[in-house]
Amino acid sequence: MSASPITPTIDLDAPGAHHGALRLPWSRDDSAWGSVMIPITVVNGAPGPTALLVGGNHGDEYEGPLALQELAYTLEANTVSGRVIILPALNTPAVRAATRTSPIDRGNLNRSFPGRPDGTVTQKIAHYVATELVPRADIVLDYHSGGKTLDFLPFAAAHVLDDTDQQARCVAAMEAFNAPFSMIMREIDAAGMLDTEVEGQGKTFVTTELGGGGTATAASVAIARKGARNLLRHAGILDGAPEIAPSTRLQMPDDGFVFAMDGGLIEPMVDLGQGVAAGATLARIWPPDRSGAAPITLAAPRDGVLAARHFPGLVQRGDCLAVIAVTR
Ligand code: CA
Repeated sequence: MSASPITPTIDLDAPGAHHGALRLPWSRDDSAWGSVMIPITVVNGAPGPTALLVGGNHGDEYEGPLALQELAYTLEANTVSGRVIILPALNTPAVRAATRTSPIDRGNLNRSFPGRPDGTVTQKIAHYVATELVPRADIVLDYHSGGKTLDFLPFAAAHVLDDTDQQARCVAAMEAFNAPFSMIMREIDAAGMLDTEVEGQGKTFVTTELGGGGTATAASVAIARKGARNLLRHAGILDGAPEIAPSTRLQMPDDGFVFAMDGGLIEPMVDLGQGVAAGATLARIWPPDRSGAAPITLAAPRDGVLAARHFPGLVQRGDCLAVIAVTR
């Protein structure tokens, strides 16, 4: 494949802290020779490993962008052993539009890896990350939350991998991030994800789901902020040991997903973090446009704890309504 059309406005290898952009040409009606400008901060200190920290992969998830803006603003090169590459708003057009996917091409960045240098704007962003940034990194953190349509218990996650040594590195990094919950998971839709690209390159990878609903809370941002610094300490990039509080280990079994078979008004019967027994009522769906009809009842498919839920008050047929996780 040809080289990326993206040009960084800063030298990624220069010593010190530098703030700039990844400039991606984007010719359009209101800017003939215009660009997408993706914010990037690189903090390069004494020799050591490189961490790549990503927020805004999806544009309606806020804990990552908020934690990384603060880190980019405050991190000083003389405290860093190695290099920290910070991308607080990777899918910048989506972040500016507060949407999961890009308003330019409807691209879902986290389904666009490894990308294409001659593809859509979203595919070009994925290609640059996969070919220029991930290869430079030893450890990668990609922040997610539920966005406008899901809400999660706050967890950091590591994947089940074929390479057990790599999986152990990822689990150790997840534990260092130290969210209140720690999830060992298999993706239901892994093709095209940054996760899959990073793991395929043999790197240590941590992802998160830290809340949702298209906003953040003081508590969820605090988890995100502590997690990044803990991860940098774990990698030896910042001095000191990670600050560790108790974290509950979870797994997301394949039979824990509940999808809505009908649309309507959703009445939650269980909140995030509550335990449920198989068969318990998770939610009821009422018609939006008539009275006197019985609600549809949605039952828990297994024992466990409610780890994710549909967020908006209206649900559509086929929406992911709930995820039941198990503790172990
Ligand atoms: Ca996400």
